[in-house]
Amino acid sequence: MRTIRYADPQGTIHYALAHPDGSFERLLGDPFTSTGLRGMGWPGTALSGEPAAIARLLAPIEPRALFGIGLNYRRHAAETGAALPDHPVLFMKSPGAVQDPGGPIRLPAALASQQVDYEAELAVVIGRPCRNVPPQEALEYVLGYTCANDVSARDWQKLQGGGQWCRGKTFDTFAPLGPCLVGADAIPNPNALALRTLINGTVVQDGHTSDMIFSVPTLISFLSGSTTLLPGTVILTGTPEGVGMAATPPRWLQPGDTVTVEIEAIGALTNPVELESAAPLAWRD
Ligand code: ZN
Repeated sequence: MRTIRYADPQGTIHYALAHPDGSFERLLGDPFTSTGLRGMGWPGTALSGEPAAIARLLAPIEPRALFGIGLNYRRHAAETGAALPDHPVLFMKSPGAVQDPGGPIRLPAALASQQVDYEAELAVVIGRPCRNVPPQEALEYVLGYTCANDVSARDWQKLQGGGQWCRGKTFDTFAPLGPCLVGADAIPNPNALALRTLINGTVVQDGHTSDMIFSVPTLISFLSGSTTLLPGTVILTGTPEGVGMAATPPRWLQPGDTVTVEIEAIGALTNPVELESAAPLAWRD
């Protein structure tokens, strides 16, 4: 099962189901609410019988919470010089940082950054409340998967972030998601997927989710410990080697670049890069 979220020509937002013939059928309801009609095995949705009038593709989900996992690929940890973590490295991004497929990644100008980087990541979408779940049962709580780019301003992440990664990872447009949500039924093993990043058509990351230090079931179990993961929670599961900060010289995103994150069995998420149109912000009073 594969769904998209889109705006119709009037600007109204809907979800749609992708049929095998390539057509899209509008869904009634929202897969992340519990009050809508039930159908197709997704909570809160049913088929409308009408084709989707897609004027603009949107991120396939509006996350209720957006967790990120750092240093979760062995070769990526090595390229950053970090030791392999003993526990998952957890941070959060704001749901407000989500960007649509095709929407621009804006390099911050108000809080200016010179070091904006890309990170291809498998995004896991939780479908029902999940708490204290063992790894063996964790995938039962997954609604589906999509591609994510965990865009990161390394200067704000490392030197100007107060010791936390959040500032550098949660600027507007720093969480592109899409192009579609692929149901968990179609991806029985999320740790068996190739993923890569292309900048202007050149492959810069070429990894595989089997290289994760903490597997997807392990991450869900860990995150659910004493903690309810609500439906609509999105988990960014870490990035493989090949980030721009590890290149020699470093390869920072520039206005005019085009970044594509591709994941096997899901698709390609492409975003252009532009500079935020804003004057430097005098935030110290
Ligand atoms: Zn990341």
